[in-house]
Amino acid sequence: MRFALALSAALILSFPLVAGEFTVGFGEADLTPELGKKPVYLAGFGQNRKATKVHDPIMARAVVLADGDEKIALVSADVVGLFLPSVERIRGKLTGFKYVLVSATHNHEGPDTLGLWGSSPVQSGIDPDYLKKVEAGCAEAVKLADKARKPATVRIGKASDPDLLADGRLPIVKHDELVVLQFRDPKTEKALGVLVQWNCHPESLASANTEVSADYVYYTVKQLRESQKCPVAYFTGTVGGLMTTLKLPLKDEKGKELADGTFAKCERYGRLVGLLAEKALKDTVPIKLTPFEIRTREILVPVDNNVFRLAHTFGTLNRALYVWEKNPMPKKFTETKDVSKPVAVKTEVGYLRLGELEVAAIPGEIYPELVLGKVENPADPAADFPDAPVEPPIYDQLKSKHRMLIGLANDELGYFVPKRQWDEKAPFCYKLKKAQYGEVNSVGPETSPIICGVFKELVKGK
Ligand SMILES: [Zn+2]
Repeated sequence: MRFALALSAALILSFPLVAGEFTVGFGEADLTPELGKKPVYLAGFGQNRKATKVHDPIMARAVVLADGDEKIALVSADVVGLFLPSVERIRGKLTGFKYVLVSATHNHEGPDTLGLWGSSPVQSGIDPDYLKKVEAGCAEAVKLADKARKPATVRIGKASDPDLLADGRLPIVKHDELVVLQFRDPKTEKALGVLVQWNCHPESLASANTEVSADYVYYTVKQLRESQKCPVAYFTGTVGGLMTTLKLPLKDEKGKELADGTFAKCERYGRLVGLLAEKALKDTVPIKLTPFEIRTREILVPVDNNVFRLAHTFGTLNRALYVWEKNPMPKKFTETKDVSKPVAVKTEVGYLRLGELEVAAIPGEIYPELVLGKVENPADPAADFPDAPVEPPIYDQLKSKHRMLIGLANDELGYFVPKRQWDEKAPFCYKLKKAQYGEVNSVGPETSPIICGVFKELVKGK
């Protein structure tokens, strides 16, 4: 979706910025739920996990970039995910932007915003009033970021650490590159803000925790705010496949092993990601982020997952379904409620060329194999579709020196599993006795070929 640029004379007067000048602003809004009146269901693990207290705040953090009067916004909320209809409502509250990207950190210790973690499998975990608060807060954070815009220079840095990721599923492939964008006042060199992008599930507090928290992201942002003395916005990336802190061996400063599900491990991990970001910030190079070129495409993805179809029937999955006629880009998207026939969901894939930086905006949890070109080849013959073609890798399409992937971008369609690694039916890959975890959280085996194929076409400009 593209946004018409609506600039009034009043707006121009209130922003006496030089034409073509690059400006940036950061903004945030508090999305912490109120406890006590209604149950707050925590998202991400089993159903019916009710919050008992608030440990740290749930936030929306936004960055607005502008090339003269042309503005784009990136906002991320500390929640498990936001579906495209939520994103569309957030965009509807904002005017004057060429593009608005809405993501979520994929936090597994915050309120349910997708509906799948209520008191039972047939009961939505969403409090509609809370979802409204999240949507309003995301828009508010963008507006505050827009108001805070100042002229800026930009630097980019990267750092990698495979020891900060566990891979919960074979084959072991990690996307362990962290990216930072550092914005400074051109005259004073004072830090105006830092955008940090990392690839992991915020789930270190695990399934037994009942305290509302942004998980490790809270500590990463805290650490960087303190060390950089400026606003910080965190964005997630490649988290499928499954990039996690669970079962990741981690020691405290004295060498004592830290257990999953503890705030000690959560804080330690968040601070280690913060330290990795600080390492990246020490070794940055200048980058130009203008001009902005935004390409997005609305597509259909078939829903083969019966759990998702059932959830739609029970109303726990509250989003429109469309007639699926084996075409991801039909001329007309036809809504349907008949799940006895092939159905699809509408989603959006994005490619942003921000000056010297290319950004893939991927609407879910993509497997690192699909980003880094490491899909199994040859496939394990025990896989369900061993002859499926290898999907075009996301990073093979990005030829610039600087690139980044934002996951859960404008939607959360679950896992994007390489089709030839799809493995629900016996025999199982790697001679395993049972299926690995993953497919249950995917819309279906066609998702990755469609998403990667559409992304390739988008980059080519088709
Ligand atoms: Zn996940």
